[in-house]
Amino acid sequence: MAIVQVKNVIKRYRLGDQDVTALNDVSLSIEPGVFLAIAGPSGSGKSTLLNVIGCIDTPTSGSVFINGQDVSGQTPDALADLRARTIGFIFQTFNLLPVLSAEENVEYPLLQLPELSKADRQKRVKHYLAMVGLRKYATHRPNQLSGGQRQRVAIARALATHSKIVLADEPTANLDRKTGENILRLMKQINRESETTFVFSTHDRRVMNMADRLVRIEDGEIKALGVRKDDGWVFVQDRRDQGDEDPEV
Ligand code: ADP
Ligand code: MG
Repeated sequence: MAIVQVKNVIKRYRLGDQDVTALNDVSLSIEPGVFLAIAGPSGSGKSTLLNVIGCIDTPTSGSVFINGQDVSGQTPDALADLRARTIGFIFQTFNLLPVLSAEENVEYPLLQLPELSKADRQKRVKHYLAMVGLRKYATHRPNQLSGGQRQRVAIARALATHSKIVLADEPTANLDRKTGENILRLMKQINRESETTFVFSTHDRRVMNMADRLVRIEDGEIKALGVRKDDGWVFVQDRRDQGDEDPEV
């Protein structure tokens, strides 16, 4: 079963007296365990699509299923719980809380999981900080860490809740090339080892080439779906042209 299903999603924003269509009838199924890039130029709808998948934003019409659950029928509490337990977010600007140390930032979303004792939380924090190579930096605050280290804290924070899906919006855009590649490599390694589904957006060709699935989006529409074969991408044009209602990658 697909871990994410987006069905005929339209998202319009009202800007002054104009309507902006950020997503125009987007349908997509994402298989569990993939390392998927959403690629497209600035303004093409990448962030909107990630936010709709992550239940941060709601579609104007159409539906989103996470783990087979239709998110539109949920109460705000149920949605917050689904988000807290299923989805982790990584942002371009890291979005760490500046007054908290690395370990406190990773612990923060765990406070929403009442079944975890303080000892459980500390165990998880230790485990995930070690996974991203920051064991020695646990007590550092964000301003005492490099950009790459901050993004590693964000990765640990996204994973600590045992998220099934990690959504990363241009996670390497604020990092230099080498640091960005290392961050992607770390995400990919975690993806392979933990089978966590990763969906990240980028407009950088080098970054998209590290994915094993590719969704090309332009003007709020999916233009192509790519699957990596040994020596490059095999593209499937938007299969709705061929009568397939529910293109899957
Ligand atoms: P990307 O992440 O690919 O750069 P976005 O998803 O941020 O693209 O934006 C897609 C389109 O929707 C753009 O035209 C953008 O200006 C518009 N948009 C995004 N968010 C809003 C908003 N909150 N209000 C109005 N327009 C928005
Ligand atoms: Mg964006």
